Amino acid sequence: MATDQHSSLTRRIVTGMVTGILVGAFLQWLMPNGSDLVIPLYLFDFSVRAFFVDGVFEVIGQIFISSLQMLVVPLVFVSLICGTCSLRDTTKLGKIGGKAVGLYLITTAIAISFAMTLAMIVSPGEGVNMTAETTFTSKEAPSLATVLIDMFPSNPFTAFAQGNMLQVIVFALLFGIAMALSGKAGERIASIFQDMNEVIMRLVTILMNVAPYGVFCLLAGLFTDLSIETFGNLIVYFLVVFFALIIHAFITYPVLLKVFTGLNPVTFLKKMRDTAIFAFSTSSSNATIPVTMETTTKKMGVNNSIASFTVPLGATINMDGTAIMQGVATVFIAQVFSQDLTLADYLTVILTATLASIGTAGVPGVGLIMLAMVLEQVGLPVEGIALIIGVDRLLDMTRTAVNVTGDSMVTVIVGKSEDQFDTDTFNDPEAGRNIENIDFHHLKD
Ligand code: ASP
Repeated sequence: MATDQHSSLTRRIVTGMVTGILVGAFLQWLMPNGSDLVIPLYLFDFSVRAFFVDGVFEVIGQIFISSLQMLVVPLVFVSLICGTCSLRDTTKLGKIGGKAVGLYLITTAIAISFAMTLAMIVSPGEGVNMTAETTFTSKEAPSLATVLIDMFPSNPFTAFAQGNMLQVIVFALLFGIAMALSGKAGERIASIFQDMNEVIMRLVTILMNVAPYGVFCLLAGLFTDLSIETFGNLIVYFLVVFFALIIHAFITYPVLLKVFTGLNPVTFLKKMRDTAIFAFSTSSSNATIPVTMETTTKKMGVNNSIASFTVPLGATINMDGTAIMQGVATVFIAQVFSQDLTLADYLTVILTATLASIGTAGVPGVGLIMLAMVLEQVGLPVEGIALIIGVDRLLDMTRTAVNVTGDSMVTVIVGKSEDQFDTDTFNDPEAGRNIENIDFHHLKD
């Protein structure tokens, strides 16, 4: 019974995604280039765009994203506190953090190196002679010192209010450690936080149940206005990025998972499906945190003491998909502007892109801002970004799905290596499914 209900939830989310894309594509065909379709009715003119695209889809889609984001700060704070104080030996935190950060940086470096190699072989920029019309201003790359200092909040409430995840993580870790060291008082507060955690996770479940509609509206709206006329010149660039993303998700991650844990990568990928769809529809690893947490703990069996730490950390500092886009884009822009890159330039790109990903939040489109930093480091024209902006929306969605897959994989590897992992849960295809159904019956009692 539970199985049927659950598989219907996963099926509903997939259905929401597919029908959203189809309806969006249909509306794009009906109303090309942002035009409108007005149907004269008896009393008034009915605007399809105003009612559906700017109305229903926009309102429900945005409410869905906001509700996900609403949960991020409280969820990360509460579950990380629970995670930290449940780790008997809090000195282990340094080891766990070291492993997670190390794996995150290594996978990002692999991703960008592979992407640049592929781009050099395929040469997507050869023969494309485009002029940049839009200007794009870059942000300064933060220095390592700034990144480190900025991790510590001078006011935790400002960090909460701004959703600054690294600062929230640091504050929660320190608070959790202090609680673990506070004896009876710490235990009392811990039990309150544990109850809070239950309630917040329940809210995530409730949201998962309305997700098919949210996903449908977001994708229908996005695909109605997805500009595809720019694809002509950029098709090779687009395909190279897309291909590299697919290879990274379906070959690099499975191989790493198998090598480090011996677990079955197919099971892992199957369990990632819902989370990847959330990431695809929201283009934000940050907004997907609640779903990634639920998947890694309830479906994959990683203990909350690890996942509560590595998932938000990954959503903030680990962006393999983004690094892939940046690698291909750098080579593409260099080719378009006929500038040769030296080996030192390539190494600079790998290093800058890997370091730039730290401290940059997982929100839509942030990859392009980081790309501006990378281009500046090797003296390429930042205006080059204007060339690829047209096809970036769809790539942003796809790379975000890769980003969260990377976060989950590292979470599983760290969890397994720290013995904070339940293999039976991982291998059980039904794991975590019963919690996805909300039982309202007891409300009547
Ligand atoms: N949207 C991506 C994320 O949230 C970041 C990016 O590449 O723009 O992970």
